[in-house]
Amino acid sequence: MALPEFRNEPFTDFSQETSRAAMLAALEQVGRELGKELPLIIGEKRLQGQGTFVSLNPSRKSEVVAIAHKATPREVDLAVEAAQQAFQSWSRVPAEERAAILLRAADILRRRRFWAAAWQVYEVGKNWSEADADVAEAIDHLEYAAREAIRYARGQSLTPHPQEHSELVYLPLGVVAVIPPWNFPLAIPVGMAASAIAAGNTVVMKPSSDAPANAHVFAEILEAAGLPPGVLNVITGPGSEIGDALVLHPRVRMVAFTGSKEIGIRIYGLAAQVQPGQRWLKRAIAEMGGKNAVIIDETADLEEAISAAVVSGYGFQGQKCSAMSRLIVLDGRYHEVLEAFVARVRDLKVGPAKDNFPVGPVINEAAMRKILSYIDVGKREGRLVAGGEPGDAEGFFIQPTVFADVDPQARIAQEEIFGPVVAVIRARSFEHALEIANATEYGLTGAVFSRDPARLALARREFMCGNLYLNRKCTGALVGVHPFGGFNMSGTDAKVGGPDYLLFFLQPKVVSIKYR
Ligand code: NAP
Repeated sequence: MALPEFRNEPFTDFSQETSRAAMLAALEQVGRELGKELPLIIGEKRLQGQGTFVSLNPSRKSEVVAIAHKATPREVDLAVEAAQQAFQSWSRVPAEERAAILLRAADILRRRRFWAAAWQVYEVGKNWSEADADVAEAIDHLEYAAREAIRYARGQSLTPHPQEHSELVYLPLGVVAVIPPWNFPLAIPVGMAASAIAAGNTVVMKPSSDAPANAHVFAEILEAAGLPPGVLNVITGPGSEIGDALVLHPRVRMVAFTGSKEIGIRIYGLAAQVQPGQRWLKRAIAEMGGKNAVIIDETADLEEAISAAVVSGYGFQGQKCSAMSRLIVLDGRYHEVLEAFVARVRDLKVGPAKDNFPVGPVINEAAMRKILSYIDVGKREGRLVAGGEPGDAEGFFIQPTVFADVDPQARIAQEEIFGPVVAVIRARSFEHALEIANATEYGLTGAVFSRDPARLALARREFMCGNLYLNRKCTGALVGVHPFGGFNMSGTDAKVGGPDYLLFFLQPKVVSIKYR
């Protein structure tokens, strides 16, 4: 199958009246679907769990977005069994056919993009552009994984031997447990699960309890595209209650996790423990948090650097793993940069995602409490120069917050807050700025704004993070263009959306035949 070269899905321009009208219509349509029940999807069956839990609209916490069924370890077993059974046939489906289903799914999602975006607006509080970008990324993952499956199916050529012919082919692994976070509620589940499926594996997905409806959007699209039952199974329920059963299951072959450092470390450890009856060492990839820094030096184009810093710090309320949470500014222009940055942050309007405010709510009550407690810590560790208070009590709103003059070793400069809070840190020199940037346990994204080529070259070598951006914001990685993953406690650096990613879901086999 000759496919056109992969290209990123364009974003929607909401300044166009037709796009605005389409989004409003989708919000209305999804608004009518709110409160529906989400069963467990296991093979061909739609099952009830033991009890239910609700997913709420963080912009309006009295509004129930969906009622999801709670799986127990029993349904974990059933889902793994269904996935294992489906693997017998799915692993033997030619790569072109697997790819065709994913391409069809991409096409369906493209046609239903406003509907899919509207679910994110309601369920996780993304504004229109953030939700649209997430859907575009999900389309990209489907398109990209389809092409990668075909590429890997060609195998590798090996060194010729006079008496033998050898070939290297890539085989799928088996049942993959996919455990995504809530903050990219479509793009991340699709990125992990579509890659697993493209490679010929089957999936048991346990979505975030904050985004079960979005996981069902994905399942609905794949079903409409003709994915056979059992290839994608979806079991909702608290990670703390069913996570261990899934990760430890002896018939799970691989775990693909994206989420916090704490849970990532736990899962990585558990996956390494061989269980009775288990016939392999599990593969585990874990993409985790960040404490990402943007450096602005004295030579930078200030207007551009500050605009980028504001977007990097407060886009989706700072709830991106790639978000800037430390702004490191060189001595010479510290006051000027701080003043301009704070003025821009104070201008950000906060309000419901449905009304498309630049800054919406944080995800839930627990996140709100955690972020506010970090703001209290920040009041002792730095100088509060913007925000610092909750917003409208109808949702989980927090004003965009800036702390100035923060010590690089302060807790708010070291620990992931995952909210609209930025620590501004002063550096004596460019080398000092890099030293500060590297002095956390994380290493996910980073950005440098400078017009000095020698400094950019130094940053390229010495800034230790998985995704480094020069004179550009540190968020908004594009599939294929910016394969994504971090160093150190930011994870296994599997680089989703890149040419090495599918390999994690495959095992190479070499077959050699001796000539007569
Ligand atoms: P989280 O609390 O770690 O949860 C992630 C997933 O793990 C959820 O599905 C969660 O389910 C599940 N889980 C919880 N406890 C578990 C257990 N004991 N066993 C198995 N699964 C378990 O993270 P989050 O709050 O959803 O997401 C935010 C975090 O993700 C941030 O740290 C952010 O930086 C990181 N992130 C990283 C990347 C990256 O590419 N590096 C991308 C996006 C986000 P429940 O919801 O039911 O608890």
